[in-house]
Amino acid sequence: MKESNNTVVFTGAGMDTESNIPDFRGKDGWWRKIDPKSVATIDSFHSNYEVFREFYSTRLKLLKNVKPHKGHYILADFEKRGIIKSIATQNVSGLHSSAGNQKLYELHGNINVIKCENCNAKGTLKDFLDGKSCSVCKKEELRPAVVLFGEQLPKDAWDLAYDSIKQSELLLVIGTSLEVYPVNQLPKLSKGKVVLINNEDLGLDSDFDMKIIGKAKAVLEQLDSLI
Ligand code: NAD
Repeated sequence: MKESNNTVVFTGAGMDTESNIPDFRGKDGWWRKIDPKSVATIDSFHSNYEVFREFYSTRLKLLKNVKPHKGHYILADFEKRGIIKSIATQNVSGLHSSAGNQKLYELHGNINVIKCENCNAKGTLKDFLDGKSCSVCKKEELRPAVVLFGEQLPKDAWDLAYDSIKQSELLLVIGTSLEVYPVNQLPKLSKGKVVLINNEDLGLDSDFDMKIIGKAKAVLEQLDSLI
């Protein structure tokens, strides 16, 4: 990290679990209890809106009191000090921006932003939680601005993440199972060294130059003190 002139970070849900946000595929993850196809696809939004709304309302209520942990703040400090250039994240929680990271590419959107699927107007969190219709077009189509299975990724975030990872001399991949396509292809683009920081070994030996098996917060604290 001291030698690299271009370090980029790529994070997944494991970055946020120590802020008490469950991941999807970890041992206490959502997908151990719920079938993703029933709640997080564009089809479920159209065919089963009440179940869709209930799932996202539960997640939004859980997010109400969460805060970034020390690891998020270390990454924000790394950006300020020029130690990292940017973060590309699969997370929808907004915790990297709450911690202070500015060069942030949210590849799967942000759950705290509410929009209308029909007319694209911005809605309020309260209206979504209360099950209200869109205040502009009056249709019952409010939803969080997250990328559902079966939807396109936001082009701007994708292009920026793609370019920055491609140019990275060092890529830190933190807390992701690398199972979600197409974002799981991004680490392969780096022309530099790729390091995994994850609490379980993903295998995939040929994709990484180094693996640090441990929790994101503790590993980042150690890195911070070593730097
Ligand atoms: P995932 O659930 O598929 O994988 C998370 C990985 O992180 C697992 O390998 C797990 O063992 C590891 N992990 C868990 N806690 C960790 C910790 N403290 N330190 C290090 N590693 C830890 O998550 P994913 O790969 O990001 O893909 C899931 C998708 O779900 C993403 O598209 C994302 O949008 C969405 N998601 C986001 C959030 C969030 O915003 N926090 C939460 C759940 C799911």
